[in-house]
Amino acid sequence: MIIDTHLHLNTEDYEKDLDLVIRRAYEKGVKKLIVIGMDESSSLKAIKIAEKYEHVFATVGLHPGYVDDDDTSFIEPLLSHPKVVGIGETGLDLYWQQDNLEKQKQCFLDQIQLSIKHKLPLVIHTRNSFKEAYDLLEPYKNQAYGVFHCFSSDLNDAKKAIELGYYIGIDGPITFKHPKDLLPIIKNLDLKHILIETDSPYLAPMPYRGKRNEPSYLVEVAKKIAEIKQITYEDVSHITTYNAHKLFHLGGSNDED
Ligand SMILES: [Zn+2]
Repeated sequence: MIIDTHLHLNTEDYEKDLDLVIRRAYEKGVKKLIVIGMDESSSLKAIKIAEKYEHVFATVGLHPGYVDDDDTSFIEPLLSHPKVVGIGETGLDLYWQQDNLEKQKQCFLDQIQLSIKHKLPLVIHTRNSFKEAYDLLEPYKNQAYGVFHCFSSDLNDAKKAIELGYYIGIDGPITFKHPKDLLPIIKNLDLKHILIETDSPYLAPMPYRGKRNEPSYLVEVAKKIAEIKQITYEDVSHITTYNAHKLFHLGGSNDED
């Protein structure tokens, strides 16, 4: 069994075949899914999907790309929902927009405070902004915790994130021909710090690159990690599943197949 710890089944891309996509993943051994909110409406939709499927969970939060359209006030009332297992995705994005950095920082800080208050993990998005995000999180070491999802920085930054108490999320790009900084990360870091995710519908792994991504493709990410580390697929699935349960408290045994 493996767990897709980050995907967006709450987008229009799955309106027609959500049921099938979820079933296909389950049959491939992707037995738990965490649907990630990005603003109020997608967070509510994530909860709705999680309510319908026993093995699907949700996070609620405000993505840095949405801070001009929404605020963080919707988040806290949703955190007591039994299927909500985290806060996010939150973080900072200096690739798409730089001129609202202060607003991005304030919304991220709001969500860091909620993580501490409600003891829920943060799902963190960074793009061209690892240092800025790190600097915001650093004062809350040993209080806030979570995952740097779809990690795109280098080995040195990955080590800093781990040292701060965070997991590293690895997605489809690890299967690409030139995974650049990701290769040394997988080669050098202990798998106990790694979560696997698809970020569906984005970033489909090889051999599906360019298509709509879906959770059944998570198998390709796990396979590639096994190949790089020269360990078995079962080892990768066992360790990353254990990590996902530990971070998100998804219930059930770590060893169920
Ligand atoms: Zn995402």
